[in-house]
Amino acid sequence: MFKFAGIILGGALVILAGCATQPNEPLPPNWSAPDAVVTAPAPRMKKSVPPAVKTNSPPVSITKAAPVLTWTSLNRWAAEQKISGPAKLASSPVTTYSVSSKNGVMVLAIGVREATWNGVEIHLGFAPEFIDGQVFVHGLDLQKNLEPVLLGEPLSFPATNRVIVIDPGHGGLNSGTISVLDKRLEKEFTLDWARRLKPLLEAEGWRGFLTRTTDSDVSLSNRVAFAESHHADCFISLHFNSAAPDKKESGLEIYCLTPTGMPSTLTRGYADPLNEKLPNNAFDAGNLQFAVRLHSAILGASGEMDRGVGRARFMGVLRGQKRPAVLIEGGFLSNSTEAAKIENPAFRQKLAEAVAVALK
Ligand SMILES: [Zn+2]
Repeated sequence: MFKFAGIILGGALVILAGCATQPNEPLPPNWSAPDAVVTAPAPRMKKSVPPAVKTNSPPVSITKAAPVLTWTSLNRWAAEQKISGPAKLASSPVTTYSVSSKNGVMVLAIGVREATWNGVEIHLGFAPEFIDGQVFVHGLDLQKNLEPVLLGEPLSFPATNRVIVIDPGHGGLNSGTISVLDKRLEKEFTLDWARRLKPLLEAEGWRGFLTRTTDSDVSLSNRVAFAESHHADCFISLHFNSAAPDKKESGLEIYCLTPTGMPSTLTRGYADPLNEKLPNNAFDAGNLQFAVRLHSAILGASGEMDRGVGRARFMGVLRGQKRPAVLIEGGFLSNSTEAAKIENPAFRQKLAEAVAVALK
């Protein structure tokens, strides 16, 4: 409950968070820019809803094939999926409902895009609505956010010879964001995190490859090509965040590619063409499962504030991936308390261990 209150109060403050991206300045070379740059300004969308039909009957059939732009009664959907219907949890400060399966519990708040899955935050595409005494959820959220975690089989990787590509963000002249404490650079910390992670994953039976092992600038398309040529089963891009000049924002956020038809959580000034269908969209369900698993493990180990699993469409290292792929923002170098943690090697070891635990 407090969580949702906090989200509402804090929602307006988080709009510009991101690696080295400051308001009213040209975007610097960035991990997140697509190689083919599209720069039409677009705000982070909070509650935009494309035209959709609200219906309580007949039930919508959720298929894997095509996005369903229909609002559906959560009661009806749950019955169709043979799970228990939504249970009301609270009426204030916002009305919240839970829906459960053998996999866990999703908590949805009316009029709020942030939901929680087993206690960690997930950003929905559309805020659930309350109509005629029932909770309605957008079909794309049912298909792309609820179904993978509530109904899906857990994400699995090959038992032998499984390959992970770890991508330390930035490098060379592309230095990422800077520490508010002493101007140390994001690229240094992401590389160190990746170097710590590789042996931990190898101890768990993974073959791990880094997109860069030195302070070198590797293009985003080459990072994707590297994952492809190494036949990676999954891909993790490691970053640290900035909300400069704001010094208060803090916490962990993980991004995966926005499903086709859904508005992104984060656009950072880039266009967000809803109907774009990208190679990595073939992995929408796996992306979310992968992100949630990592998010939960890192939150538990680091004690960071939960900023949620979000969706972005513009991140060049994710768009072309033919495997589950996520981008982790491991904390804010623009916040002095968090920057002090990130600069501490023991904290980066903790982050690495959390990722390895998630991939056991
Ligand atoms: Zn970064």
